[in-house]
Amino acid sequence: MFRAGLALVTLLIGSTSFAAMQVETCIAGESAAEGYWWQGAAAIMGTEIRVELWHTDPVLACEAVADVMAEMHRIDEAMSPYIETSLLSQLNAKGADGFVDVGAELFGLISRSQGYAILTGGAFDVTYASAGRYYDYRQGQKPDPETLRVAVEAINYRHLELDHRNHAVRFHHDHVYVDLGGIAKGHAVDRAIQILGQLGVKQAMVSAGGDSRIIGDRLGEPWVVGVKDPRQANAQIVVLPLMNASVSTSGDYERFFEADGVRYHHIIDPKSGDSARSVRSVTIIGAEATATDALSTSVFVMGVNKGIALIDRLIGIDAIVVDGAGNVHTSDGLMPMAPTNQPANQSINPTGNHHEVAAASYKKGAL
Ligand code: ADP
Ligand code: MG
Repeated sequence: MFRAGLALVTLLIGSTSFAAMQVETCIAGESAAEGYWWQGAAAIMGTEIRVELWHTDPVLACEAVADVMAEMHRIDEAMSPYIETSLLSQLNAKGADGFVDVGAELFGLISRSQGYAILTGGAFDVTYASAGRYYDYRQGQKPDPETLRVAVEAINYRHLELDHRNHAVRFHHDHVYVDLGGIAKGHAVDRAIQILGQLGVKQAMVSAGGDSRIIGDRLGEPWVVGVKDPRQANAQIVVLPLMNASVSTSGDYERFFEADGVRYHHIIDPKSGDSARSVRSVTIIGAEATATDALSTSVFVMGVNKGIALIDRLIGIDAIVVDGAGNVHTSDGLMPMAPTNQPANQSINPTGNHHEVAAASYKKGAL
């Protein structure tokens, strides 16, 4: 990791539009091959955004970090359902009255979401929020049975009508509410990677909470992304060495509360409007973060068998699922290798050549 004491430059990137509490930094870490690894972090979209990139020029490196953070703010301001002026809030306010113009970018993401809804048989459904909006995981609140019953009727991606020519959307049910929390962070990460690519950055990782995308390697070595143990803080079940790949994890441990021994968390089964409870976490590896983000949420709702069967049909996508008993399941592209000399660890060797995953080790479950 990064050695302490090498913080040569600390730039605080300020902007009047950023909330006062948000700290946006650009710090030089390890020096490597005539350059430095630069790290930026900020709290945006209700999550931690992290950027790591290799660059020889401190000014250009920190400008690149600032450009990524500005893009994250821009996307949040367009797509957050919590920001009253966002395009998404305008759609939620007026969509039941008729078509609302949402612009090409938001329209594109809603349209892609509809594609995932069809692909997953409705497991991924951005109208989940018709019921999902009544949960408050911080306050430990859930809807009463009557509110939930009415809200669940509004969950159905078919209630959305899309006008592709005019980038407009309307709702065919009065209580529909759309939230893109299952796909928008992936989109933001993809946009960030696109911006870094345009700036000539060849090695970088951008993360928005559980969604990450990597360009290149780490100067000859793969990047290493750990998959958290869903029930043991700071422990990892899998370590994934990755190059030029995206990885997203959806877990029931991120945002939840417990009531009467039941865990209420933020991934909702559209059929019930209640949390999906058959698995504890899903990690998806693929090329694009928009896809891995949407699919991690989808497979979480679909469960081990249907979820992995779907992933095995998709070229270039793999999955690691921790089921309700803590066992690890993987898609066909991730295969066991001979055990290593460490008794608690085995390695899994992706044979699919779908993405540049070098090897991985895990300590739980049977492959
Ligand atoms: P996070 O990185 O926020 O933990 P995940 O990828 O795990 O995100 O997805 C969870 C988010 O997806 C929820 O916070 C919610 O906004 C959204 N979501 C929940 N259930 C569904 C669903 N069935 N279909 C689409 N989106 C969903
Ligand atoms: Mg997701």
